[in-house]
Amino acid sequence: MSSQTRTWTRKDGTVVTKTYEYPPDYKPTTAEERFFAKVDKEHASGCWLWTAGTSSDGYGRFSENCRGVNAHRWSWQFHFGRIPNGLLVLHSCDVPRCVNPEHLFLGTPADNCHDMVDKGRHCTQTGTQNCNTGEDNPTSKITWERVREMRELYQSGNYSQRELAEHFDLSQSTVNHILQGKTWRRSITG
Ligand SMILES: [Zn+2]
Repeated sequence: MSSQTRTWTRKDGTVVTKTYEYPPDYKPTTAEERFFAKVDKEHASGCWLWTAGTSSDGYGRFSENCRGVNAHRWSWQFHFGRIPNGLLVLHSCDVPRCVNPEHLFLGTPADNCHDMVDKGRHCTQTGTQNCNTGEDNPTSKITWERVREMRELYQSGNYSQRELAEHFDLSQSTVNHILQGKTWRRSITG
């Protein structure tokens, strides 16, 4: 049986000493061991899926030295070294909780914006120069006109989301997000 004794002082000045007993096979785990215990590398897509907690925007959360970090950023640093200042770690697979280093690449906030728009998501980052959203972006496959057309066709009840995805040459999840208003929310002027 191994044990560890901690002593600390309470607010009222009393000194407390407590001994924690650990099972005989206990050994302190490294950050690396804790990290990979939370990763599912067997996923069919090739993504290494984070199985523990995620943030509201879907990124895996990991804590190291009592500091919370995004799991994909931790993975990048673990495999490749320090992330240069100002750069983001982006996903080529578009799966926020993926931590496979082969699916991660460095980019600027503007790269991230273009990437999101390419994938049919609305970019809401501020302070990003040269980043056009929606139909102003020349690489965007969708325009407001097509979004309206898609919504009208769907409301007619004659088309499934899969059929619309084929018709508009978009992924089904992109179509789903547009129809639910998660992306391409009507702008104030539009
Ligand atoms: Zn992935």
